[in-house]
Amino acid sequence: MLPISKPAPASAGVTGTWRTYRPVVNLGKCIDCGLCWLYCPESVIDWEKGEKVKIDYTYCKGCGICAEVCPVKAIDMEPEEEV
Ligand code: SF4
Ligand code: SF4
Repeated sequence: MLPISKPAPASAGVTGTWRTYRPVVNLGKCIDCGLCWLYCPESVIDWEKGEKVKIDYTYCKGCGICAEVCPVKAIDMEPEEEV
């Protein structure tokens, strides 16, 4: 069994309206290391070397782990109402 969870494609895995912060990637600062992709517990970050980091907000829970592990602080957790 894998130690990480996967977002379900069904409505059971969809994040509701309760998320208060969401991660926003500053692509100008991103060094393409892939750590956010590796550590996201919901596996909702789409990353491949040379491609832009994309976050699926339908499933993102706003936990902030991606922002914590980013070595260049390229991810900001922004209040939901401001994005
Ligand atoms: S905030 Fe949490 S769930 Fe959302 S992309 Fe970052 S690590 Fe994944
Ligand atoms: S952890 Fe930060 S620097 Fe690394 S790929 Fe993600 S956003 Fe880019």
